[in-house]
Amino acid sequence: MSISQNLRNIKSSLPETVTLVAVSKFHPVEALQEAYDAGQRVFGESRVQELIAKQPNLPHDIEWHFIGTLQKNKVKYIASFIHTIQSIDSMELLKEVDKQAAKNNRTIRVLIEVHIAMESSKHGFSIEECRMLFQEKQFAPYSNICIAGLMGMGTFTNDAHQTEKEFQSLQKLSDELKHSGFVNESFTELSMGMSDDYLIAIQHGSTMIRIGTSIFGGRVY
Ligand SMILES: *Cc1c(COP(=O)(O)O)cnc(C)c1O
Repeated sequence: MSISQNLRNIKSSLPETVTLVAVSKFHPVEALQEAYDAGQRVFGESRVQELIAKQPNLPHDIEWHFIGTLQKNKVKYIASFIHTIQSIDSMELLKEVDKQAAKNNRTIRVLIEVHIAMESSKHGFSIEECRMLFQEKQFAPYSNICIAGLMGMGTFTNDAHQTEKEFQSLQKLSDELKHSGFVNESFTELSMGMSDDYLIAIQHGSTMIRIGTSIFGGRVY
C-alpha cells in the first residue's frame, strides 16, 4: 500500500489526542516528502548524520523528533532545529542539550527515556532513577530545556501480556509524577508504542506513537 494510504489507515485508528510520529530512519527523502504531501508534519529520526543530511532537503515546517541513542558530542549538529529529543538517557546528555539550546537561543523540548523492556540493549533510566530525578529536582538548573514527558520502548516480543505490563508500569510512573507536584504543566506526553504494539500503548495512556514500518515499509540496513 502507498505511504499516504498507510498514514490514513493508522490515523483512522487513533484518538485525536494521540500524536503520530512518522519514524523515517533509513528511508529516503522522497518517502518523507510523500508523507509530508499527505499531511504528515511530525517525523522521527534516530541517527544524527542521517537527520542532518535530510533536514535541509525537506520543508522547514517539519517538526523533527530525535528518538535514537544520542551521543553528547553530536547534540550541537541538531540543536538549531530539533523540536523534541525523546531519548534523554543521562543527566550528562540533558546538560549538553541545555547548553546547546542556550547557544542557539532556544528551548528544546525533551522526553526522559525510561527503560521498561527486558532487553539490556535498550537505553533509559530505571523507573526508580527517573522518580528520584524528579523528586530531587535535578532538572531545575536547566532553563533551556522543557521536560515534556516520558518515553519508553517495550520488549520486542509477541507476548502481548508482557508488553502490556511494561506500558502499564510507564503509565503508572507518568500519572504518579503528574500528581506529585514535581513536574509542571508542560509535562503532558507519554511516548510509547511502535508499529507492532501501538494499539496496546494507546490503551495504556500513550499520547505519542512512533511508527516506522507500518507507514514506510521495511527498512534496508
Ligand atoms: C525505529 C524506531 C521506532 C519505529 O519502529 P517500527 O517498528 O518500524 O514502527 C520507534 N521508536 C524508536 C525509538 C525506534 O528506534
